Amino acid sequence: MAFPRYLALVESGEIDDRIKKTWEMAKDCRLCPRGCGVDRTGGESGVCNSGDKLRISSFIKHRGEEPALSGYHGSGTVFFSWCSLRCQFCQNWQISFEGEGQDMSVEDFAQGMAELQKSGVHNINWVTPTHYLPWLLEGLKIAAQEGLRIPLVYNCGGYESLEAIKLLDGIVDIFLPDAKYADSELARKLSAAPEYPERNREALVEMWLQVGELETDDEGIATKGVIVRHLVIPGELDNTKGVLRMLKETVGTKVAISLLGQYFPPHRMRNTPYDRSLKIAEYQEVAQYMFDLGFSNGWVQEGLGVELRHRPDFRKDRKEMW
Ligand code: SF4
Repeated sequence: MAFPRYLALVESGEIDDRIKKTWEMAKDCRLCPRGCGVDRTGGESGVCNSGDKLRISSFIKHRGEEPALSGYHGSGTVFFSWCSLRCQFCQNWQISFEGEGQDMSVEDFAQGMAELQKSGVHNINWVTPTHYLPWLLEGLKIAAQEGLRIPLVYNCGGYESLEAIKLLDGIVDIFLPDAKYADSELARKLSAAPEYPERNREALVEMWLQVGELETDDEGIATKGVIVRHLVIPGELDNTKGVLRMLKETVGTKVAISLLGQYFPPHRMRNTPYDRSLKIAEYQEVAQYMFDLGFSNGWVQEGLGVELRHRPDFRKDRKEMW
């Protein structure tokens, strides 16, 4: 399959239908599973706080993503302001909760992606994009018409509307969703999203149907497929094990997993059970569980003592942030 996938839709004009449909979703906003029903095109805002302006925190050449994404020249990452999830352990609080960033036209957004491509990055990586979908598709169309030719990574929290993800078929090359929770009560407590497990499960299945197993080029750089990220929360190993079982049942053990162990307690977690880092023994326990379930591809974190001698398709990642 040729990549980037969005090129065919832009050339055929089919992207216009997707743009139209996502604007309809934003008018009575159901871009994410919150389904606030506000008119985003008229400036109203819902739980995520975003309104009728595309707001972007930064365009950066990111060298700290998984090696298949950052490669040798970095991942062309665009951080969008605001977020529909309310994760109390968020490491990007100023961007997600306080809206740090600048309002930007879709033309300037397209220009920003063109400049990233010019800098030599391997891909364009949209971080927390879902609440801006119509704006982003408009920007993508302009950028593709002006020469954007690198794969598109959809780097999201995994709390996704199935309707929105279906509209990305033929557009996204690499889906990079989180799978944060299998435990609905934990999802309510830490992210105010009790239905996260169901929405996550159905979105992951759809992503898998669209792009499937991770594919890389001769240099190990991702060209297509799904990579699922899971952050292990201290003391919540049953949640992690539930997520791993869910992945096995839904998309199977060939999906690439990035098992993250860098939980860092923000001050908001004072006086809660989550006011500590993950113990190495906790990380090792869930990594072993993942191997025992039969997962055969992905990354575990360097420095947390996981032995990979008999697991040739798992690699170590030096990731420090996500
Ligand atoms: S994108 Fe924002 S306004 Fe729209 S449904 Fe989600 S939280 Fe509500």
